[in-house]
Amino acid sequence: MSWRDNLIKIEPYVAGEQPNKTDFIKLNANENPYPPAPEVLDVISKFNGGALKKYPDADAKPLASAIAERVGLTRENVFVGNGSDDVLALCFRAFFNSDKPVIYPDITYSFYPVWCDMLRIPFETIPVDESFNINAADYKRPNGGVVIANPNAPTSIARGLDFIREILDANQDSVVIVDEAYVDFGGESAVPLLSEYENLVVTQTFSKSRSMAGMRIGCAFGNKEIISALYAAKDSYNSYPMDMVAIEAGVASVKNEEYFRATLAKVIATRDRLTKELRAMGFELPDSCANFVFAEHKDYRAKDICEYLKMRDIYVRYFSKPRIDNRLRITVGTDEEIDALIAALKDYIK
Ligand code: PMP
Repeated sequence: MSWRDNLIKIEPYVAGEQPNKTDFIKLNANENPYPPAPEVLDVISKFNGGALKKYPDADAKPLASAIAERVGLTRENVFVGNGSDDVLALCFRAFFNSDKPVIYPDITYSFYPVWCDMLRIPFETIPVDESFNINAADYKRPNGGVVIANPNAPTSIARGLDFIREILDANQDSVVIVDEAYVDFGGESAVPLLSEYENLVVTQTFSKSRSMAGMRIGCAFGNKEIISALYAAKDSYNSYPMDMVAIEAGVASVKNEEYFRATLAKVIATRDRLTKELRAMGFELPDSCANFVFAEHKDYRAKDICEYLKMRDIYVRYFSKPRIDNRLRITVGTDEEIDALIAALKDYIK
């Protein structure tokens, strides 16, 4: 026996590469290319650093209240955490305590199996179809919980509320998590269904549509009992996950609806132009409802394209995983960044 036998044995989640240089085009982590709302920058530059001597509000109440007001819920229906990864990990801990497997699609956010492994939650993946569609009928089986990313990642495909309803109707004895990290870019939020389904949890993030990936703010919506369980899980792990600056800056972001809408419109317009350009070059990709596209070229290997783009200082994401190992996940950047990407691809694809 050695102490090494007691170390965690886990294959961790691998995030998009963060190259150690500045002059490159980063389209590999689904970040927003535009800055956060100007009021967020104001909060940060004017923050009274002396205040840091005290602990922050343990439940980030000002931020939870601002988010609740914006989506038409009360603060008791909102949990705020340190990025939606933190919120989702706490959801897995708080809601998935059955001996039956948690179920989710085989092609989805690759952090789900990592949390299951770390928290020792049994799970089963359910294959999406050839076109990457999730079939609601496949989720009518005994389970200890359901997780659906909508829009799904990395496929970029969104499904409507009829689909979410079908899953909820078939799974009234499990908690159903709908991960809406990308919903603002074209999905339909399941938040309105919260009044009908007490086992529904919806998670969202400030990392994508609010351009605040560097600050780490995520949230969950659910009924009071669900949200209390999340606070209990948080208070059994880290009482103060949200720092004071994040709480204030998050409120400032939520208050500027106009900037939020305008930024989304820019990303969506660039995404739709990118989609057309890629199809004209012979790429196949589903219509994206997110801030990234998921493209394949039948005549070129995705891995080779990815390596070539890297040589041109353009970073996109490639997953060497079954079923998706000829696909590129390309984040929507600014128009200039996407022009550079298209020019590089045109040099490569003759
Ligand atoms: N869910 C999905 C589907 C994602 O792609 C991501 C981003 N990697 C997250 C959740 C977590 O994002 P964050 O922790 O930045 O909120």
